[in-house]
Amino acid sequence: MSTNSESIKVVVRCRPMNDKERAATFESVVSVDVKLRQIIVRNQRESLACKSSKVFTFDSVYDWKSTQKELYAESFRPLVDSVLQGFNGTIFAYGQTGTGKTYTMEGTRNDLERRGVIPNSFDHIFTHISRSQNQQYLVRASYLEIYQEEIRDLLSKDQSRHLELRERPDTGVYVKNLSSFVTKSKEEIENVMNVGNQNRSVGSTNMNEHSSRSHAIFVITVECSELGVDGENHIRVGKLNLVDLAGSERQTKTGAHGERLKEATKINLSLSALGNVISALVDGRSSHIPYRDSKLTRLLQDSLGGNARTVMVANIGPASYNVEETLTTLHYSNRAKNIKNTPCINEDPKDAQLRKFQEEIARLKAQLEKRTGKKNRRQNGRACDCSNGDYQEEEHEGDDEDEDNKEDYWREQQEMLERERKAIMEDHSLVAEEKVQLLKEKEKKMTDLKREEKEGELLATKIKTMESKLLVGGKNIVDHTNEQQRMLELKRQEIAEQKSREQEMRQQMECRDEETLELRETYSSLQQEVDIKTKKVKKLFAKLEAVKAEIHDIQEAHISKRQQLEQNQNKLTWELKLKSQMIDNFIPLEDKNKTVTRAYFDEENEYWKMMPITRIEHDPRMMSRPQSALGFRRPLSHHACMAMMISLDMRYKAENILLLGMDMPSRTTKNYQQPVIAPKVVAALKDALRDEEDLEVDASELNGSLSPLASTNGSIRKSKSGRPRTSKQLNTRTASCSPHNLTSPIYPQSRGLVPK
Ligand code: ADP
Ligand code: MG
Repeated sequence: MSTNSESIKVVVRCRPMNDKERAATFESVVSVDVKLRQIIVRNQRESLACKSSKVFTFDSVYDWKSTQKELYAESFRPLVDSVLQGFNGTIFAYGQTGTGKTYTMEGTRNDLERRGVIPNSFDHIFTHISRSQNQQYLVRASYLEIYQEEIRDLLSKDQSRHLELRERPDTGVYVKNLSSFVTKSKEEIENVMNVGNQNRSVGSTNMNEHSSRSHAIFVITVECSELGVDGENHIRVGKLNLVDLAGSERQTKTGAHGERLKEATKINLSLSALGNVISALVDGRSSHIPYRDSKLTRLLQDSLGGNARTVMVANIGPASYNVEETLTTLHYSNRAKNIKNTPCINEDPKDAQLRKFQEEIARLKAQLEKRTGKKNRRQNGRACDCSNGDYQEEEHEGDDEDEDNKEDYWREQQEMLERERKAIMEDHSLVAEEKVQLLKEKEKKMTDLKREEKEGELLATKIKTMESKLLVGGKNIVDHTNEQQRMLELKRQEIAEQKSREQEMRQQMECRDEETLELRETYSSLQQEVDIKTKKVKKLFAKLEAVKAEIHDIQEAHISKRQQLEQNQNKLTWELKLKSQMIDNFIPLEDKNKTVTRAYFDEENEYWKMMPITRIEHDPRMMSRPQSALGFRRPLSHHACMAMMISLDMRYKAENILLLGMDMPSRTTKNYQQPVIAPKVVAALKDALRDEEDLEVDASELNGSLSPLASTNGSIRKSKSGRPRTSKQLNTRTASCSPHNLTSPIYPQSRGLVPK
C-alpha cells in the first residue's frame, strides 16, 4: 500500500478565440509556452502603474491547438490507470463559463477526435478490462448534479427528489440513495451518460444558464478481483470522479441584492467553499479545513487533501475582455498546486459490490444444485475463485456438463412418472377408486416437478445475468492486433512521460542558466560592474513590481470578497433581528423556552430539528401529556368519550372540544355616586329650582286683556327671591309681551333654569 503524499496536478488549457471575439477584433492577451509550461498574461489594466506581464507555471499547459487526445494521453491517462489499480481519482474542470470546461470533460459526442475526458476514460477502462488476465471486474456508474446546494440524481426516474449526504467512518462521505448502474460495455456506460445529460437539460429552461450554475459529477467505480500472492482473492476498488464545475465568474461578479443576492450566494456557495478549502489546505496554519461548508467540498473531501489522485484542469479564454477572470482562474489554480494528497490503494473495502455479487452467485448456485439434487455439490466459496483464468475455462466446461445433467435429470424424472402412471392404468388388480387416487397423486407430483423445473430455470437465468455483469478479460489475448495495440499504447504512454520529463528538465535548465550566469560573471572594469548591476537591479525591480501588482490584485480580490460577505452578513443580521422581534413580541416566553429546550441541531443534515416530547419527559419544564389524551391520539372531551361508549357512531370519535365552565370576569366598573355639596348650596339650588317650576304661563288669559304689568308678574316675584336679572332679560320679556306681538299665541320659550 502506498501512502506517499503527492501534490494535486494542475493543468491549464486555453481555448481558441471564438467567432464573436474574432469578429469584435479582441486582442489575445494570453500566451502559452508549452515547453516551459508557462502561461503569460499581458495585463493591460489602467489601474496598475505598469502594464506588466504575469507568468504562471503549471504541471502542464495546453494552447488552442491542443487536441483532446493529447490532453488525455498526457494528463488524464495516468490518473485513470491508477483508478484501475484501485486508487481514487478526481478530474475537475474549473473556469469561467464558455472557456471549455464541458468541452474538456465531455467534448463533442460521436466525434472521435473531439471526445472529452469522460468518453475517453470509458474507452480506456473497458479496453483495459478486455485485455486483462486473471482478473474479474465490476464497473458501476452514477451521475449527479449539485444545483443551489441541492443534490439531484441524474439517473433516477424521479428528478424532483433531492438526495442527502451521509458519512460513514469507514467509507467516508457518500450520497444516500444515489442510483448506480452496473455497466458491461463502453456502449452501456455511454448510454448512462446520455440519459444523465438529457435529465440535466430537462430540469432547466436554459441549459447554458443552468450548466453555468450547477456542478455535474460523473462517478465511475471500478472493482477488480484478483488472486493475491497469499492465495486469497483480493478486491481493489477505484473511484473516478469526473467533475464539470459551475462557471467561476459569478464569484466576483454577483452585484445582486435582496433575493437575487441570496440565490447568487447559494449558487456560489460550493464554489467559494472550494476556494476556502484550497486556501485552508495550502495555508498550512489552519487546522480546520471547512469541508462541511458546502455539498461539493464534502463530496470532494477525499480529492482535496485526502485519499485520492487529483487533476485540476483550469480553463481560460484568450480575449482581452476576460483578462480579470483569466487572472482569477490562474491565481486560484496556482494556489491549488500546493495541495498535498495521500492516495492509497483501496484494498478489500467492506462495501465492495463485487464481493457481494460473487457471494450471491455462489449462494444461488448452491441453491440450484440443491434443487437438482445433485450429490457432487461444490464448495460454497469456490465460485470466488473464478477470477483464475484456468479455472474459468474449467468452470465453463463444468457449466455445460451441468446443463446436460440438469436436462437429463428432468427428463428422467418425467419419464419415470409417466411410466408409473401407465403402470397404474394398466394394473387391473387395483380397484377403480384406488386407481383414481394414485393417478391424482402422480399428477400432483408431475405438476410439482414442472414447477420445480421452472424455478430451477429461473435461478439459472438469474445466475447467468449476475455473472454477465462481472467482466473478465483475457479472452482475446491471443489476438495479435490486440497485443500490438497494447504495445502501441504503452509506447504512447512512455512518449507522454518523456515529454513531460523533457519539459521539466527544460524548466530546470532555464533556472540554472540564470544562476550560473551570475556566478560566472567577472567584472573587467568598474563601469562594467555598474552596468551589470544596474541591469540586475532593473530586473529585480521589474520582479518587485510584478509582486507588488500581484499583492494589489489579491488585496482587491479580498476586498470584494469581504464586501460580499459583509453584505451577506448584514442581510442575515437583518433577518435575524426580524425573527427575534417576532419571537419576543408574539410568542409567550414559556413557549419560547420550551421550543429552545426541544430544539437541537442535526449536524448531518445541517438543520434544526425538534426533539420528540417523550424523550425529555423528565424535564419538569415540559408539559406532561394531558389526562384526557391518555389512550387517545389527542385530548378528547368527556362528551366525546361518553358518546363513544354509548354508540359506535364515529361521529364523536375525534371530537376534541373541551367543555369548560363559564369563567366570569371580575367587575371593573363602579356605581355612580353623587358629589357631596354644601347644605347651603343645596338649599339655594332647591329654592332656585322650585321657583322656576312654579312659573306657569296661561296663554289663554293673555288674549287681549294682558297688561304689560300683569305679564311681568312672575318677574316681580322672581326679583323678590333675590335672583339677579339683567336688563336685557327684562327687555326681552317686555318685548315678548308687547301689544305688537299679541296676535301670535304666546308659549313659554324655555323651561330651563336660566330663561333665555
Ligand atoms: P463551459 O463549459 O466552460 O461553459 P464550453 O465547454 O461549453 O464552456 O465551451 C464553450 C464553447 O467553446 C463551445 O462551443 C466549445 O465547443 C468551444 N471550445 C471550448 N474549448 C475549446 C477548444 N479547446 N477547442 C475548440 N473549441 C473549444
Ligand atoms: Mg459547461
